[in-house]
Amino acid sequence: MTARILDGKEYASEIRLQVTRDVAWFTTHHGPIKLCAVLVGSDAAGRLYAESQRKLCVKTGVKYELVELPEDAAQDAVLATLDRLNADPEVTGIIVQLPLPAHLDAALVQWRIDPYKDVEGVNPANIGLVFYNEPILAPCTALAVTELIRRSGVELRGADAVVVGQSRIVGKPVTMFLLHNEATVTGCHIATRDLAHHTRQADVLVVAVGKPRLIAADLIKPGAVVIDVGINRVREPDENGKLVRRTVGDVDFAGAVEVAGAITPVPGGVGPMTVAMLLRNTVEATRKQLGRR
Ligand code: NAD
Repeated sequence: MTARILDGKEYASEIRLQVTRDVAWFTTHHGPIKLCAVLVGSDAAGRLYAESQRKLCVKTGVKYELVELPEDAAQDAVLATLDRLNADPEVTGIIVQLPLPAHLDAALVQWRIDPYKDVEGVNPANIGLVFYNEPILAPCTALAVTELIRRSGVELRGADAVVVGQSRIVGKPVTMFLLHNEATVTGCHIATRDLAHHTRQADVLVVAVGKPRLIAADLIKPGAVVIDVGINRVREPDENGKLVRRTVGDVDFAGAVEVAGAITPVPGGVGPMTVAMLLRNTVEATRKQLGRR
């Protein structure tokens, strides 16, 4: 059996189309949607990420502003910047680019983002509200995973689901989502004694660990829905023996695709869906702010 590929790129482009329509509607009826990204320091990766955010926003009609602070900005200066953006009615969404310089407390900074403007869903208040199944804005990667599971068509009620990796931003919120949908959920992590024992029972298997190809085909139940969140950069020989850089997931895709019922590829699965969810959250943030007035 060869698994159905859950094509994150294709789904993401459908979602972007819907977001573009929604943005046009809000812009006409209520004024522009504006996303502000705060970048502390001149980290090259952060700048590159901001540039791709800008392009995406331009494409969908969202206004975008990069707010730059110096590498040595004090904690109070970063918090004051967030207070200013929180209070500005023209700013409808806020992102803080990570990683922050080591002298800053990322958790404290994330607490300061208005939960109604927190388009990445990283304010601990939003993450905590996932527990109640009513976040104002949920973490984007967890949303991406849940959307991919939904599109797989699997019946969650009563299903055995296993989430490998229990980070605050991905594994735990996904675990809660599956519980809210009445799956029987097992949360695995670094201290799990017999990982294979658990994963082999899973009708739905979500892996968010950060270890290349941790999950081999023989750890997967035939017909399972497999969602691979991992993004790992590896150097390995190509077919001619030359060392090349590749991006691989936490699941051994080549083997898993022969066993699973449906599977996300890496790249092209959870990654593009996460970006699509950021855009969807950007519209959702505006909707919720209007509802609050
Ligand atoms: P994290 O580092 O915060 O947490 C890793 C989790 O994996 C922990 O719960 C740890 O206990 C568990 N773990 C580690 N080794 C294990 C093992 N051998 N067996 C079982 N569990 C083990 O991870 P994170 O921030 O959730 O990221 C996980 C992966 O997902 C990374 O590769 C990251 O790059 C990727 N990621 C992708 C996206 C996306 O948009 N596609 C977004 C966020 C993270």
